[in-house]
Amino acid sequence: MTALSGHCLCGAVTIDATDHRGFLAACHCRMCQRWTGGIFVCVPVEADGVAVSGPVARYASSDFAERAFCSVCGSHLWFRMNEGDGHYAMMPGLFDPVQDLPLKSEIYHDRALSGLVLAGDHRRATRAEYEARNAHLEGDQP
Ligand SMILES: [Zn+2]
Ligand SMILES: [Zn+2]
Repeated sequence: MTALSGHCLCGAVTIDATDHRGFLAACHCRMCQRWTGGIFVCVPVEADGVAVSGPVARYASSDFAERAFCSVCGSHLWFRMNEGDGHYAMMPGLFDPVQDLPLKSEIYHDRALSGLVLAGDHRRATRAEYEARNAHLEGDQP
């Protein structure tokens, strides 16, 4: 895929990434709803070739993942698992070139705010379906 270059709202944090996966993914779990205010949407970015500069604050939102944001303007930057391939689930709005990427997957879709139901034929999983496949999860209530 193509390289991405982007920045937070105030411009203090800049991110360059050499490789993204070419799609968007969404999550409606309660943790993501609290963090984003409604719905979490990301573009998965490979860990290799990611360069970040600026005042990044990291929050360990669970035993297995962190969420990062700009400590000046508060823009959300990424969600990242501690284990696995280490890829970043970056906030798409940081980058201009992701404008036309398709939505490929939606998890916790049974938790979606009723005004934020996503149309389309992308892959969907309910909370029960997703947690059955991911044994490290113990519910989505922060
Ligand atoms: Zn900022
Ligand atoms: Zn979530």
